[in-house]
Amino acid sequence: MSEHCIGKKAYGSYKSATHSMRLIRKGSSRHEVPSRVYKCGSCGNWHLTSSQDGFKESNARNRKWTHSRR
Ligand SMILES: [Zn+2]
Repeated sequence: MSEHCIGKKAYGSYKSATHSMRLIRKGSSRHEVPSRVYKCGSCGNWHLTSSQDGFKESNARNRKWTHSRR
């Protein structure tokens, strides 16, 4: 396991990661909850992230994003 993954929960599939994210968001009233999942390049598993910066940025760049993704 790489340093990147320490302290993070790893999921074997996108499905189980999003499922857990939904449960956490439902059960938590905290400000910082996972906002997206991503595939880890270090361990090959899926992690959740609650990065607010990334979230804001992806909102602002939403147009560009959908364009580049097609
Ligand atoms: Zn990882």
